[in-house]
Amino acid sequence: METKVIKINSPADYPLLDPAAACLRSGGLAAIPTETVYGLAGNALDADASRKIYAAKGRPQDNPLIVHISDFYQWAPLVQEIPASALTLAKAYWPGPMTIILKKSALIPDATSGGLDTVAVRMPSDPIAREVITRSGVPLAAPSANTSGRPSPTRAEHVYEDLNGKIDYIVDGGPCAVGVESTVVTLVDGAPRILRPGGITPEMIRDVLGACEVDPAVYEQLKEGVKAASPGMKYRHYAPRARVTVLSGPLDAYVRCVNAHAQEEGVYALCFDREGAKLSVPYIEYGAQADSAAQAHQLFDALRELDERGARRVYARMPSGEGVGLAVYNRLMRAAAFEVIELEK
Ligand code: AMP
Ligand code: MG
Repeated sequence: METKVIKINSPADYPLLDPAAACLRSGGLAAIPTETVYGLAGNALDADASRKIYAAKGRPQDNPLIVHISDFYQWAPLVQEIPASALTLAKAYWPGPMTIILKKSALIPDATSGGLDTVAVRMPSDPIAREVITRSGVPLAAPSANTSGRPSPTRAEHVYEDLNGKIDYIVDGGPCAVGVESTVVTLVDGAPRILRPGGITPEMIRDVLGACEVDPAVYEQLKEGVKAASPGMKYRHYAPRARVTVLSGPLDAYVRCVNAHAQEEGVYALCFDREGAKLSVPYIEYGAQADSAAQAHQLFDALRELDERGARRVYARMPSGEGVGLAVYNRLMRAAAFEVIELEK
């Protein structure tokens, strides 16, 4: 299959999206930019389109897809009921990087919901994503547009690397603003619970709903035999080809530890801005220590670059875990398969 690339530089280019929108409407696949990461879109109401998404990504079939809408009126037909708490959340943070899980309606095929009786819905804020959804006229299932297991794509070039020849279109809208996937929050059991942290923080949800729990799978590896609330959380995910270890502790202890490993083959450091010069191994900096938003923006790009440079062994600095830092912490820990070393102070 030939994959066509559509470059969008400004709203004047939006009519160029029409062939991709028509293709989506008739069951094809198009990668589109969103404010979180690039998504691999297909008609969410078409089971065959969803099956094609799983096939192109090599994604396990039990890992459900997020359904993207561009207007509030598209939400109600997809779910059994919209409780008051869901409406409050959506009014506060849609359009934006937040996904809400509710009981699904009969319109959502099992292929889209990974066999679950619930559906995850999000209204993105990225103007190009919204334009594609509106022009296609259908809600779009759109998981991250990477080969399953690879870091999520934050630029069209990343999508091209993974999916060229496997999908109909790539819409290139430049780099993504947030850089990590949306916050996934379930309201199915009544009390709001975050299954995956993202740009909308637990504090922001508490601000409008009064309460919000964070699922234990965000912080630790699921134990053998424990059922994942969010099926995606049981997979290693986000991983570069190198083995990654997160080092927790102050900068001087990190520098000592990394430099002690300098003789190992293919060693790289993944550190904060202006720390690399202290190290005697090659490094990639992924944002200032105090700037979680910058780290979120750069993390996946950094993980892909480590692959490109042939890194085999990566020692990473531990992110703060506060605010958006919780999303950075979660993605990095999963890239490391939760391998952490606590450094002596
Ligand atoms: P991705 O589309 O690659 O960003 O991954 C979507 C994430 O949302 C995965 O971690 C899924 O497990 C999760 N997800 C999607 N739909 C549901 C659902 N109905 N229930 C629980 N988790 C979901
Ligand atoms: Mg993904």
